[in-house]
Amino acid sequence: MPDRLTPTQRHTCMSHIHSRDTKPELLVRRWLWSHGYRYRLNVKGVPGRPDIVMRPYHTAIFVNGCFWHGHNVETHGRASLQNSDCCKIPQTNRDFWVNKIRRNQERDQQNYHILQENGWHVIVIWECQLKPNSIKETMLKVETMLCDYFLALHRPKIISYATTEDAELPMAAEDSEDYGR
Ligand SMILES: [Zn+2]
Repeated sequence: MPDRLTPTQRHTCMSHIHSRDTKPELLVRRWLWSHGYRYRLNVKGVPGRPDIVMRPYHTAIFVNGCFWHGHNVETHGRASLQNSDCCKIPQTNRDFWVNKIRRNQERDQQNYHILQENGWHVIVIWECQLKPNSIKETMLKVETMLCDYFLALHRPKIISYATTEDAELPMAAEDSEDYGR
């Protein structure tokens, strides 16, 4: 079967196809791995099949392409959808693209909501945040969030130990000290 796409068309087409192992996702995975984080990919049974799942952090990471997921485009109103710097909607078949992108945005929000309702943290990383001059800052923010989530998960245990000790120690001290009165 003849391939009727020119190499340029094929490249454009391929770059718009949802797939695993897209370049932005690889950048995130590589960064996490090299900083000692471990994760699972596209886990079945987790809503929205997040690109990266980090169970010890109760965190799902989505690495979103700016075009398909409509980064920063205005979502309300059919015709009022505005282009953003990183998501320019084609003029040809504009209605089709507007509907398509809006559906993707709605589905994304539903998935994030379901995950959060179930106690998961959701981190969304946009393709444009992974450009060479932004990736470091982006991933440091991600790392900060992961640390916060991890601490939040383990904090209750630490507090209950501290409370037990605090409740006992001052009692012993007060029996023998009158604090100068
Ligand atoms: Zn973007």
